[in-house]
Amino acid sequence: MNRSPFSALRFVARLVFALVTAGAAAADAARGFRAGAARGDITPDLGIMIVGGFSPYPAKHIHDPLYVRALVFDDGKQRIAFAICDNLGMPREVCDEARRLTAQLTGIPASHVLVAGTHTHSAGSARPSLGPATDRPGGALVATTELNAYQRMIARRVADTVQCAVNNLTPAKLGWGAGSLPSQVFNRRWHVKSEDVRRNPFGGVDTVRMNPPVASPELIRPAGPTDPEITFLSVQTTAGRPLALFANYSLHYVGGVMANTISADYFGCFSSRIEELLGAEKQDPPFVGILTNGTSGDINNNDVLAKRAPKAPYEAMRAVANEVAAEVLRAAEDIQYRDTLTLDARALELPLAARRPTPEMVARARDLLAKPAGPAAWHPNERVYAERVLQIADLPADVTIPLQAFRLGDLGIAAIPCEVFAETGLELKATTPFAKSFTLEIANGYYGYLPTPPQHKLGGYETWIGTNRLEVDASVKIVAAIQRMWAEMKPEAPLVR
Ligand SMILES: [Zn+2]
Repeated sequence: MNRSPFSALRFVARLVFALVTAGAAAADAARGFRAGAARGDITPDLGIMIVGGFSPYPAKHIHDPLYVRALVFDDGKQRIAFAICDNLGMPREVCDEARRLTAQLTGIPASHVLVAGTHTHSAGSARPSLGPATDRPGGALVATTELNAYQRMIARRVADTVQCAVNNLTPAKLGWGAGSLPSQVFNRRWHVKSEDVRRNPFGGVDTVRMNPPVASPELIRPAGPTDPEITFLSVQTTAGRPLALFANYSLHYVGGVMANTISADYFGCFSSRIEELLGAEKQDPPFVGILTNGTSGDINNNDVLAKRAPKAPYEAMRAVANEVAAEVLRAAEDIQYRDTLTLDARALELPLAARRPTPEMVARARDLLAKPAGPAAWHPNERVYAERVLQIADLPADVTIPLQAFRLGDLGIAAIPCEVFAETGLELKATTPFAKSFTLEIANGYYGYLPTPPQHKLGGYETWIGTNRLEVDASVKIVAAIQRMWAEMKPEAPLVR
C-alpha cells in the first residue's frame, strides 16, 4: 500500500506525540511524592466582630495574627490540598468559594481541597451577618458578590496560599504517628443531681448539663468519653529537613484572651512551638506547623472536679500548646517515612433533614414573647431560644451538607462540617479500614453541633434546637457516608507498614 507524504508526516507526528506523552508520564512517575507548604495572613481589620462569646463584640486589638496554613501533596497522579484557617465555624458559602477559587487557580479539583477552621474563639467573624444563623440549603455555589469583604478576603487568601504551597512543591517523604495527651481533654457534659441546674430554655428538664458548677457536690459523672489522641503527619524533604507538621487533637479552644482581642488561640501557639522544637525556624521556604481541630464538640480543657488557679492572659493557651507540641515531638521519634504513597480523595453531598420545632414549641415561644420582658421565669435564655424557635420554624426542612474523605497511603482522614462529639470521632477511628485515621471538624462549612442519638436523649446545650440544626440521626448517617468513602479508597491488599 502506498503511503502519501501526508500520511507519513502524520505517522511521524503521532510517533513524536506518543514519545513525548510517554516521556511526560515517565517523568511524572519518576517525580514521585512531593509536598509543599505555605502560610497566608487572614488577620481582619480592627472593628470586625468577634463571635466566640455568647454575643459578638468588636475587635480593638490584635495579640497575634491569624493565618491560613496550606499543605499540598502530589503523588505524581493526584494532588490534594489542606487549607486550615484561624477562624471559628466558617459558613459553607465561604468554604465553597475558597475551594472554587483554589480549583480555578491551581487546577486541584474542589473535591480534593479541604478548607477548615481551627476553632479559635477569638477570630473575626466569617459569617454573612451578625443576625441569627440560618440553614442555607447547600449545593449551589454562591456568587462572589454575595460574600462580604472579609469572607472574600479569606476565600481569595486560601486560593493564593494553596498556589504558594504548589509553587513550593519539592520531593518529600511523609510519616504519621500518634501520641496521647489525656490531661487536657474533659467531657463538658455532666450528669448532675439537682434538676434546677438541668433546666432547658423550652420549659423542660434535661438529663445532663453542659459546663456544670465547678467542684460541686452536685456532680455525678461525665456524659461521654474523651479522645486523648494526637495524630499527626510529619513531612520532610527527602534529605530529612522538616517541611511541615499537621497535627489533630480533639480539644475545643483554650481561651484566656484579653477582651476585644484577636488571637489564634493555642492553635497559633502550637505552630510556632513545633517549629521551634524541630529547629525549623528561618527556613526558606518557611516550615509550616498546623494544629487542626479534632472531634471536640463536647470537649474542653476544664476539669470541673477541681477549682483552677487564675491564670494570666495567654498563659493557659501557651501551656497547652507546649504540651501538645512536646507530645508530638516525643511520638515522632520512631515514625517511618515513605517517599512513595498513593493519594486519593472523595467528596459527597449528604442530604439531611434540618431540625424544626414542633407546633407545641412554636406556641410556647409565641406565648413567652407576647409577655413583657422581665426576669426569666424558667431559664435565663428562654427568650433568646423562643426567638430562635420562631426564626427557624418556617425555614426549609432539608439541608445538604458537604462531606470529604482522604487517603494518604495507609492513613485515612475525614472532614465533617459540624462540631462533632468525641464518641463519633472514636467510632470512626475504631472502624476505619486504614492503619490509622482521624477527623477534622468544622470543615467545608458549619452546621452546628453533632450529638449522637443517645446524646440527643440526654439533652443539654448542644442538643437545644436553635443551637442544634441537623436531624437527630445526622451523626449516624454522616458516619456511614464517611465509612463508604473510606471503603472505596481502601487498598485491596493489606497495607504493610
Ligand atoms: Zn466552639
